[in-house]
Amino acid sequence: MGKSGFVAISGQPNVGKSTMLNGFLKEKVAIISKKPETTRDNIRGVLTENACQIIFVDTPGIHKPHDLLGKIMLTRAQSTLMESDIILFVTDPRSAFNKDDENIFNRLPKPEENKKVIFVINKADKLKEKKRLLPLIKKAKSLYPFNEIVPICALKQNDLDELLEVIKSYLPEGPLLYPEDQLTDKTNEFMIQEIIREKVLTETYEEVPHSVAVVIDEITDSAKGPLKIYATIFVERTSQKAIVIGKDGSMMKKIGETARIDIEKLLERGVYLNLWVKVYKKWKENPSALREMGYSD
Ligand code: GDP
Ligand code: MG
Repeated sequence: MGKSGFVAISGQPNVGKSTMLNGFLKEKVAIISKKPETTRDNIRGVLTENACQIIFVDTPGIHKPHDLLGKIMLTRAQSTLMESDIILFVTDPRSAFNKDDENIFNRLPKPEENKKVIFVINKADKLKEKKRLLPLIKKAKSLYPFNEIVPICALKQNDLDELLEVIKSYLPEGPLLYPEDQLTDKTNEFMIQEIIREKVLTETYEEVPHSVAVVIDEITDSAKGPLKIYATIFVERTSQKAIVIGKDGSMMKKIGETARIDIEKLLERGVYLNLWVKVYKKWKENPSALREMGYSD
């Protein structure tokens, strides 16, 4: 089993988030351009190295909302942080710990949520001496129990490899979530989504059916072989996730097999279906999540 996961990039504007991302991706990147109004439009880049896949997700700015749009953006940014396995909180030493950073600190997941949060001090070249990092590191440590604090210089690509290794070390085990090529067909996509949801509903019990949403992450079509479909089943709680997965994955297997048979009928061709279950707390009360999951327009 390889490793895969979502890495949220947060930080105030201009701290070098995009520069860092480009530095990570180099030429290996498969940039995924997605339609707006889906979860996936947040995805900026996927880095695949052997059996390891990192999906970098750019979070919209985190500021105090002044209007509805701001609130939606904030809700989105927050859900991106919550959905991700790892959060990179990127700062510039010259603006670190100002009001905007304070806002981000306030929105980091609670330590008991066990998210991996890495404090990245970019633009280390702007510091006259290395030892000036020490008070910044100390301050950061006093504000939040970061898993790691990593100084880098994204512009010169200094220490990006080290940061990447740190990210990989915190990445959970998992299959590749995104193949390189993709094809999306909205109508089929919607149908496939509904077939999978239907199987979950018929196979599960209690509160699970009410908490499930299905999102098609990726459909790839190569001339030869089956159509590859990657979908995520969202539930609201860890206990529900356990139900959907079942003992030794038996429930997932059943859902996957029955859904695949129906999808093959729909598309009249062979299908490879890859399902993934994720806990997404309170998505039903989250307008952003609702929109991302196609429940509003
Ligand atoms: P973003 O808004 O956080 O995505 O920031 P950008 O990546 O667009 O970078 C903002 C500016 O900071 C650009 O002019 C970059 O060239 C510059 N920058 C990024 N990383 C570094 C760095 O490590 N050192 C220095 N000196 N400048 C950097
Ligand atoms: Mg940027």
